Formats: sequence, structure tokens, C-alpha cells
Amino acid sequence: MRVVGKCLCGAAVRYSGEADPLFQVKCYCSDCRKTSGAGHAAMIGFADGSITIVGEVKEFHSTADSGNAVTRAFCPGCGSGMYSRIAAMPQVIFLRASTFDDPDLFAPQLVVYASRAPAWDPVSADVPAFPESPPRR
Ligand SMILES: [Zn+2]
Ligand SMILES: [Zn+2]
Repeated sequence: MRVVGKCLCGAAVRYSGEADPLFQVKCYCSDCRKTSGAGHAAMIGFADGSITIVGEVKEFHSTADSGNAVTRAFCPGCGSGMYSRIAAMPQVIFLRASTFDDPDLFAPQLVVYASRAPAWDPVSADVPAFPESPPRR
């Protein structure tokens, strides 16, 4: 998959890469809701290193309900959420599908924290949905 994207202003943060997605997930946790500006965040995980990020991001660090340390990177100019990283999966970068030049590249495979979806952003029934975080292996 050829992946190209940029933030809203386009001047500050861009990324590109040629990589196969590892995960395509919609997360309805309250942190993703707040940072996304919608009921959920749409994220595609790629092997770290397969995506080249150009420009400066600002990072926000928090601890997810799962207990994982999460880093969210956003454009310091326009505030667009660009990608996130989870301490438990250091080899993966989760790009925000909202910043893809072609948003239809995103094909969700999984929903997490579905129990927290607000009525105005319902969980679609066509992909597996976990009420909370998926079980760890
Ligand atoms: Zn920007
Ligand atoms: Zn989330």
C-alpha cells in the first residue's frame, strides 16, 4: 500500500511510505474521542521505519485505560492528530487515517472500546468489535 498524508495546514507535517498495514482499527476510547474531534479515531498500524515523517510534530503523552503509555503526535501549527505510538508495541506506528491524502485507503478490521461509542457515532456491525481493549495474548 502506498501511503501519503499530511496535516491540515500541509506546511508542517507530511508522511509517505510503501508498506502493508498491520492493523486497521477504530478506537472509541474517551482519549481518542477527545483528540479526534469525532466519536472515534481511525488508525492504521505500520511497521515502524516503513513510514517517513517529514516535519516537526508536538507530542502528548498519556496513560491509556489499558495501562499502556501512549504518545500522540500532532501538528504544532494546525493541531491535526498525525500518529500515535503505544509502549506495548514499540515496533508499530499508528497513522491517523484522517490525515491520508486518500481516506478510502482505510478499511477498518477491528473496533476497540466499542462500549464507549456515543449514540451519534455508532459502531458499524460489519467488523469485529471489542467492548473494551482486546484481550492480550
Ligand atoms: Zn499542520
Ligand atoms: Zn483510543
